Amino acid sequence: MSDTPTAILKSLPSVDRLLNTDAGRDLVAAHGHAATTTAIRASLDAWRNRIREAKSPPPDPSAILDEAAIALDDAAQPALRPVFNLTGTVLHTNLGRAYLPEEAIDAIADVARSPSNLEYDVDAGRRGDRDSHIEDQICRLTGAEAATIVNNNAAAVMLTLNTLALGKQVPVSRGELVEIGGAFRIPDIMTRSGCTLVEVGTTNRTHLKDFTGAIGPDTAMIMKVHTSNYLIEGFTATVPETELAELCRSHSIPFVNDLGSGTLINLENFGLPHEPTPMDALRAGADVVTFSGDKLLGGPQAGLIVGRKDFIAKIKANPMKRALRCDKMTIAALSAVLRLYANPDTLAERLPALAALTRPQSEIRSLAERIAPTIAARLGEIANVSVIECASEIGSGALPTRTIPSAGIAISPAGQQGRGEGTALKRIAEALRALPKPVIGHIESGAIVLDLRTLTDQTGFCAQLDRLELKA
Ligand SMILES: *Cc1c(COP(=O)(O)O)cnc(C)c1O
Repeated sequence: MSDTPTAILKSLPSVDRLLNTDAGRDLVAAHGHAATTTAIRASLDAWRNRIREAKSPPPDPSAILDEAAIALDDAAQPALRPVFNLTGTVLHTNLGRAYLPEEAIDAIADVARSPSNLEYDVDAGRRGDRDSHIEDQICRLTGAEAATIVNNNAAAVMLTLNTLALGKQVPVSRGELVEIGGAFRIPDIMTRSGCTLVEVGTTNRTHLKDFTGAIGPDTAMIMKVHTSNYLIEGFTATVPETELAELCRSHSIPFVNDLGSGTLINLENFGLPHEPTPMDALRAGADVVTFSGDKLLGGPQAGLIVGRKDFIAKIKANPMKRALRCDKMTIAALSAVLRLYANPDTLAERLPALAALTRPQSEIRSLAERIAPTIAARLGEIANVSVIECASEIGSGALPTRTIPSAGIAISPAGQQGRGEGTALKRIAEALRALPKPVIGHIESGAIVLDLRTLTDQTGFCAQLDRLELKA
């Protein structure tokens, strides 16, 4: 009789009794009384269900507490955590874009740990301006008269539109009505910024006369948007920036250029394809230029707005600026990253984004050859592991059609063609993602490809492969 489900249920220890064991007290010390009580209750419930379904003999109290401990440990893990981005997209928007140099991380820690002179002028002993810490740096690097920063480039575009074109019209070429991932669409941004988009030209061809014809008494400015993530090819025409700038000047309206990524260096000097810089845009006559902090610039999430002093002053005075302003940690990190730009000779070593983008294929290939045997040792029985050449993308909408030759590891299920192959691939991908520091690759022609361009921690990567577990 004593092992009927009812008898077993009755014999289960109470929550209080479990809390008062040594293991229970340890859990309370680590996780607090309330969370531990809840976890023990949940564990008891799970055991009760299993006993009712006659699937379980009477559990040992330690087994009940072990289950509670696992749940408590899981809940204590941060939800936001590091991963290995081996997708082949260097600045991956879903994986946090640029990762920061140590100098920036130290700068973040310094201002996070202590009060700082964020809005305090130490020399004068009075209130200061948070932008003052980086405005000079940005101006020196871009050649702009003035600069300000906000939370991201989407905010930079909205704030610029809302300041310079509220209630008025903004002509934009139909070829530049971009959608960046994550719901950033130029027509919607225009509406939400309080202006009216005037579409000009056609998808493939826009001429100066189209803009000239669109300008009227309600035109506030002309905006150019960098077609970050697509290319219009074939029978095309765009209006040179210098001509748009000239047209704006003749109507005394500002010419605004949203560069999207923007980079503060000539990428061609680093063997990479050219991406327009804010310096180019300003030289071509833009009055205001906006770009991201965490795309090719390689810094923290931020939106930089540079240009003419009077326009920047207006932008800074917009009450929306207060809502979109950067946090002190962002300012500290961005300033540290911009300091690295002061010495372009060491930039490719010290700025992780640029280091990854300029890493030679031969070096990546050697890394792949060193690592492949470790992966093969783990997966050898179920998968073919080989070193391959692949192509990295820059990502974040920069240079969408250009790739960089890279190398990596292809893992394909062994002895399975066709039917079972997809499932086997999915299982391996899942196992890689289930590692303590998840490994994210991409699937290409029946294999999981791990592009090693962005792998810097070889030791950490290999060490955790012991824990690769393939579920049956
Ligand atoms: C990426 C991008 C944005 C948005 O920048 P975030 O920093 O992601 O907010 C805006 N415009 C263009 C052209 C872009 O490429």
